[in-house]
Order: sequence, then C-alpha cells, then structure tokens
Amino acid sequence: MEKYDVVIIGGGPAGLAAAIYSSRAGVSTLLIEGNMLGGRAIYAREIDNYPGFPDGISGNELVLRLLKHAEKFGTKILVGQSVMDMWLSGKVKIIKTINSEFKSKSVIIATGLAQKKLGIPLEDKFVGRGLSYCATCDGFFFRGKKVAVIGSDEDALYDLKYLSLMTKDLIWIPNVLQCDKEKLDYAKELGVEVLEGVNVTELLGENRLTGIKIKDRSGKERVVNLDGLFVALGFTPISDLARSTGLKTTQEGYILVNEDMKTNFDGVYAAGDCTGRSHQIIVAVGQGATAGINSSDYAKSIEF
Ligand SMILES: Cc1cc2nc3c(=O)[nH]c(=O)nc-3n(C[C@H](O)[C@H](O)[C@H](O)COP(=O)(O)OP(=O)(O)OC[C@H]3O[C@@H](n4cnc5c(N)ncnc54)[C@H](O)[C@@H]3O)c2cc1C
Repeated sequence: MEKYDVVIIGGGPAGLAAAIYSSRAGVSTLLIEGNMLGGRAIYAREIDNYPGFPDGISGNELVLRLLKHAEKFGTKILVGQSVMDMWLSGKVKIIKTINSEFKSKSVIIATGLAQKKLGIPLEDKFVGRGLSYCATCDGFFFRGKKVAVIGSDEDALYDLKYLSLMTKDLIWIPNVLQCDKEKLDYAKELGVEVLEGVNVTELLGENRLTGIKIKDRSGKERVVNLDGLFVALGFTPISDLARSTGLKTTQEGYILVNEDMKTNFDGVYAAGDCTGRSHQIIVAVGQGATAGINSSDYAKSIEF
C-alpha cells in the first residue's frame, strides 16, 4: 500500500491550494480527484473577484495555474478515482478508491458541494438528455430552444441571465411559495416568462426530456413542452462519507472545523465549500492553505 504524509481528497481550489502548501513544506502529498481537476471553479467563465487579477481570469486558467504550482512542489495527482471509503480516527489513516488503497499520516477533505436534485422520477435518466444542472456548461446546446430554469436563488438568476443570451424562449419556475418582487422584476427585464406558484410534479419523455408536468396552488396540473430543463435548486455539501467515518458536521452537512481547519479527529482537516464558509474561491484557497500548513506540521510530528 502506498504511503503519504498528507492525502488531499478533492482537486478544486481548496484541495490544490492545500497541496501547494503541504508539498512546499517538504512532506509527501497525494491529491485525489474523483472527477475533473478544478472542481466547480472550472465552470466560472470569468472570475473578476480573485485578488491580483484586476482584468479577471477564467476558472480554467486559474485552475491550471494552481495545478502547475502544486506539481512544481512535487504533489502527486490522481484524477478520475473517487474516494469510496476511508478510516480516519486512528493514527494511520486509510483511504480507498475503486482501484487503490493509501496510508497517510494526515488527510485534508476538500470535497466541495453537489447540486441539489429535484428528487422526482426519471431525473437521473434525463441528465445529459434534456436535463442539466449547469447552464454555463450546457446552455450552448439549447440555442434557440424552449428551456426552463427551476430554482429561486442567485444561482438560478445567474442561469436565467446566461440562458437569456442563448434563447428567447425561456421560462422561469421559482419553485417557492412567494418569490421576491426584485427577482420577478429582474426576470421580466430579461424577457423571461415566469410560472409562479407551481411545482414540477413529473418529467416527461421517452429517451430524452420532452416536457414537464406542473401543478398550481389549486392542485390543477398541466403539461409544459420543453427542449431543456435546468435545475438550479442550490447546493449541498459533499460530506456523507466524511460523516460516516465519524467526522462531525453541521445540520446542513458542512464539515465542522476550528480556525486551524482541523476536524474532530487528530490529523484530519477540511477546507473550502464543504466547510460552508462563503463559497468563494479566495476563501477556499485561504482555507486550503491553512489546512496544508497544519496538516504538514502534524504529519512531521508523526511516525508511521
Ligand atoms: C458557474 C460558477 C461560477 C462561479 N464564479 C465564481 C467567481 O466568480 N468567484 C468566486 O470566488 N467563486 C465562484 N464560483 C464558486 C467557486 O467555484 C467555488 O467556491 C470553489 O470552486 C470552491 O472550491 P472547493 O475546492 O472548496 O470545491 P470544489 O471546487 O467544488 O471542488 C471539490 C472537488 O472535490 C471532488 N470530490 C468530491 N468528492 C470526492 C471524492 N469522494 N473523491 C475524490 N474527489 C472528490 C469534486 O469532484 C470536486 O472536483 C463559481 C462557481 C460556479 C459553478
């Protein structure tokens, strides 16, 4: 079994920043990313609030720079293998992916957030077949098509704005009892049709989504034909595995950490969006740096 001083789970901005700090401190560091390096940041077309880039920088470019920086100091990167299981309470931590098993002195969890789902039948089947959780990623495929966005928070409004550049046939389903007047005015300004006070009860279609069934407050149902549905119901922390190993979380599932980004287990740290603070790259990077410094100090104080 390969041994490392520090294993980082998650290759978003928090994990990459943690990797820069721990590998630069001279401890062997492995970063495991289950999907694509860069996490949610790769979907940011232009980041104009990251300090030091007054003209903005794309999420992709920022992530490439973070990766290059981490590799420069010797971080080993493993992409495309999700961590499936881990044992964190003992002195030696064990981390398992589908193909490999690693031992480490210290672990940093930087698993970010997952999209909340509608939770109705056929949702998983239609992902990539007319249903999407990311307007920035998939909006292009729906140019000139009839599309709806479901959700009421800032992310839903962001998706509406983005999709309004792709199509004029756009519907917004806020999916809340009462929607803010400000948000409704914004949608009107964008020229979006608003279906207020309705719930989506069914997804329709055979091999791809062709429409939805909605129910209004009086219980009356009707079908809305669609080419695409964008689900923007917000996010939930990816922390089920962490919680199942005994790490403490808040009620919403955010991993509990102190100001050193330490969890309730010695040698185990968490950083970034999965800890629930601000959901911004600069915050994730700052927390990753703190976790990287403290986990490398911890690893240096432990013998296998
Ligand atoms: C469209 C969009 C635009 C944005 N614009 C901005 C902006 O302008 N400015 C800003 O500051 N922020 C912006 N953000 C938010 C920013 O991207 C996030 O705050 C940031 O990416 C959080 O970093 P993170 O490392 O904590 O988590 P994430 O970026 O979510 O990375 C977590 C990583 O962990 C991986 N992972 C999860 N579970 C496992 C597992 N079991 N095994 C292995 N890997 C796992 C995931 O695949 C993911 O790659 C934007 C986000 C989006 C979606």
